[in-house]
Amino acid sequence: MNSEKENILNQSVQFIKSVGPKRAASFRKIGINTIRDLLFYFPSRHLDRTTTLTISKAYGYLLNGFNGEITIVGKVVNAEKLMFGKKELLKVQMRDSTGFFECVWFQGIKYFSNVFNAGEIFAISGKPVISKYNALQFTHPDFDRISEDESNNILNTGKIIPFYRIPKELRMGSIGDFSLRKIINTAVENYADYLDETLPEELLKENNITGLIESIKNFHFPENREGLNKAIQRFKFEELFYLELLVALRKFNYKTKLTGNSMKVRTSLISSFLKILPFKLTEAQLRVLGEIRRDMESPTPMNRLLQGDVGSGKTIVALIAMLIAVDNGYQAVLMVPTEILADQHSKNISKLLKNLSEIYKDKDINISLLIGGQKKSVKNKALDGIGLMDADIVVGTHALFEERVKFKKLGLVIVDEQHRFGVEQRAKLQNKGVVPDVLVMSATPIPRTLTMTVYGDLDASIINEMPKERKPIKTILRGEGSLPDIYKFIINKVKDGYQSFIVYPLVEESEKLELKAAETYFRELSETYLKDIKVGLLHGRMSWQEKEEIMLMFLAKEYNVLIATTVIEVGIDIPNANIMVINDAQRFGLSQLHQLRGRIGRSAEQGYCILVTKEELAASNSKYKLNLDYLSPIQLEKYRSSVRLQAMVNYLDGFKIAEVDLKLRGPGNIFGTEQSGFPELKHATLTQDSELIVMAKAVAFAIVESDPYFQKENNLIIKKNLFEHYAHSLNYSKIA
Ligand code: ADP
Ligand code: MG
Repeated sequence: MNSEKENILNQSVQFIKSVGPKRAASFRKIGINTIRDLLFYFPSRHLDRTTTLTISKAYGYLLNGFNGEITIVGKVVNAEKLMFGKKELLKVQMRDSTGFFECVWFQGIKYFSNVFNAGEIFAISGKPVISKYNALQFTHPDFDRISEDESNNILNTGKIIPFYRIPKELRMGSIGDFSLRKIINTAVENYADYLDETLPEELLKENNITGLIESIKNFHFPENREGLNKAIQRFKFEELFYLELLVALRKFNYKTKLTGNSMKVRTSLISSFLKILPFKLTEAQLRVLGEIRRDMESPTPMNRLLQGDVGSGKTIVALIAMLIAVDNGYQAVLMVPTEILADQHSKNISKLLKNLSEIYKDKDINISLLIGGQKKSVKNKALDGIGLMDADIVVGTHALFEERVKFKKLGLVIVDEQHRFGVEQRAKLQNKGVVPDVLVMSATPIPRTLTMTVYGDLDASIINEMPKERKPIKTILRGEGSLPDIYKFIINKVKDGYQSFIVYPLVEESEKLELKAAETYFRELSETYLKDIKVGLLHGRMSWQEKEEIMLMFLAKEYNVLIATTVIEVGIDIPNANIMVINDAQRFGLSQLHQLRGRIGRSAEQGYCILVTKEELAASNSKYKLNLDYLSPIQLEKYRSSVRLQAMVNYLDGFKIAEVDLKLRGPGNIFGTEQSGFPELKHATLTQDSELIVMAKAVAFAIVESDPYFQKENNLIIKKNLFEHYAHSLNYSKIA
């Protein structure tokens, strides 16, 4: 690379005209040290002069039926709070040289009334309408504050104008919108041409992607909309491309550098097992088993993600895979996120194996439980057994892999409810001796854009079908005032043999208080509304032995109702429990609610999920139907809990719920992404750029396939960038 060019770009920002030491110091505070840094300080939005109109023009357009987005630059005349029926609203009167217009807000009134002071100038953007009183009116518009000079400028240049985020560090260093724009303009004009391209030329041409220098210029000071869009596309593509390269490398490393074992379905073990099952496997379960079996037979290690909604029957699939391993003389591990779940799985599996042993006599299959809270003697015995090959199947929590567990011959690792396990843990697993086959199972449906990115190194299988005889769960939303009726409903259903969960969120910070809250709640209910039926209590402060005892009693129908904190959230399978009451439902996240609801509806009986929330929230939910597509970010923020509750009432399908969740959380906050070991995205979002993701993935995977070590002339540039900018993630790609 041309180091002279690099040196120029690596000079301090102080070298730019009108940036002295004082301003340079302010820039440093927000991480802008060099000229290069400044070139990559991108605008957060642009103001499009091509759609900036005067009021009289805009008015004319609207009268002629125009209903698009426009911008008007105007001065605040006054702002007043008014009553609109029972609701307050803020109306801001504004004017330009040709007339008056108004902006109204129904939310954030206090905030906006402080923003819009008389005499100040703003660029207002949105879709205006003509009001009943013939005023041109914007509702909840976007806006930018503009200085007097600039307002002339904006109206006079025929350009698209960039707006940069100005953190307080810059403001305090007397760098505002206007001066920053000027400084960056100087930097772009004098230095952008020194930048080296960071994507192969060939790739740019083939995919019609704009080069780096042009993109930098167009992102900051676009000639037109098209140029701006192409610049944005380029930066989105670039980061997605490098992300997908890392994904592809992870996969490549797994497939080529690691050797696994080739297994076979050898004896009649599996067919015997299928005979003792009380049901027939669904088509989807069979298909997925076929995929898993092929992986296990192949000498490359399996690295597969199995997705299936709650209750779709993943456990049986896992167990059959484990039996294949055992049949080949290997040990198999099932790793789960909680101790109760480990305990439950080991009990269920034992029961099935016991039935199996009646018709399959060739080999005794031993199962061993390994979890944190076990007695020393019990644990040591388990550990010895695993080392001596006494244990064929081991069930445990992730503590399992942090302790000195010596497997004699580990062939298969299954991770249940995988979103709790990060890439680091997965990597650790793979470092344990011979590389075992790995299957990760998730009930939290993972949107396609995620399986293509953060989970893209895993092969994917989906159980997209529920066991036949299930009835769709009925989900109902109620205010707290309905609780007495809900309790009556529960008691009534006891006659039909129903069992119920009553869940409430953790509200107390300290363990002591939490315990007290749980016990108080339990006592109150069992002494009043539920005094004639049998009620149990399960909370997080119990030892796993206590939890186990309670769960067993519930399973044995010793309790009609189990009052519980979210300890029951993940995986628990009590098919006879068919009513789930969730208190303070607005406090739970959407995937958590879906997981909770997944605890019921696991048999042929009708399941009922009753979400209990604040009176107002329940009432407003029944009145308004919120359409997610039409909510602005501010509204989304405000209606977050309503949207969640409505999604639960409207959808049973976990994928649909995950989609809503993804929208609510926003791109930065998706489960699993932080622990994925991949770089953070700055331009692209996993929610909106699925087409670009598909494209970036195709291009990146093709390159890794044809030139995995980036030795071709064209690809050297890729190698350089990977090492310079993605070293941290690259490291993970090598391990995993
Ligand atoms: P999850 O996918 O949430 O882990 P489980 O494996 O716990 O679901 O299965 C849920 C329930 O459905 C269990 O009680 C299980 O025995 C039962 N089940 C699994 N597969 C079938 C099937 N093919 N037909 C009927 N019931 C099934
Ligand atoms: Mg499960």
